[in-house]
Amino acid sequence: MRLGVMGGTFDPIHHGHLVAASEVQTRFGLDEVVFVPTGQPWQKDEREVSAPEHRYLMTVVATASNPRFTVSRVDIDRPGPTYTIDTLRDLRTERPDAELFFITGADALAQILSWKDADELFDLAHFVGVTRPGYVLSESGLPADRVSLQEVPAMAISSTDCRARVERAEPVWYLVPDGVVQYVNKYRLYAAGSPAGAPAR
Ligand code: ATP
Ligand code: MG
Repeated sequence: MRLGVMGGTFDPIHHGHLVAASEVQTRFGLDEVVFVPTGQPWQKDEREVSAPEHRYLMTVVATASNPRFTVSRVDIDRPGPTYTIDTLRDLRTERPDAELFFITGADALAQILSWKDADELFDLAHFVGVTRPGYVLSESGLPADRVSLQEVPAMAISSTDCRARVERAEPVWYLVPDGVVQYVNKYRLYAAGSPAGAPAR
């Protein structure tokens, strides 16, 4: 069983994430790609991140139509800041037979050596770095046998830009899946002056 792991804040999930996951799924013959929304991301505490439940549900909405895509709650249900090492350890415990492929954009790949327990990361998963407009994709300094680079269709989309667009009342249609546009409107996420509480569970 070959399991792709797509970690992210997904605030909101957009077509850049989905194209990257789909392309790696095909190229690496993955049986499944599990999207893992972070709890509180340790790199992002300067900015207020939307409630984990909102980010989780948007990820479910966005991935529901793809039979190979699933979503995991391991990071949002673990207290404290999210470290990828914990994500991979938990997934390995849940799926002991799976070979893990952690999918990451060029920007995140360049940071990886600064992540907690960086050495052990490469024991737990093979890393697939994907191209992202505006960033240079490089494996320099990383263990060559544990890292692959994959070109994916260029999607110049970021969650930061999507949030800024909503705040300015500009469209995010076609940048994020239709269901995510509707979810953002329904809960008034990212709109100027509207606090985003967690949805009822
Ligand atoms: P933010 O602007 O809030 O940081 P983001 O668009 O970078 O959001 P993240 O949730 O931070 O999205 O990213 C999750 C993963 O997806 C990271 O590995 C990131 O590099 C990758 N990724 C995000 N957007 C793209 C894109 N357009 N193309 C390829 N990879 C992407
Ligand atoms: Mg990012």
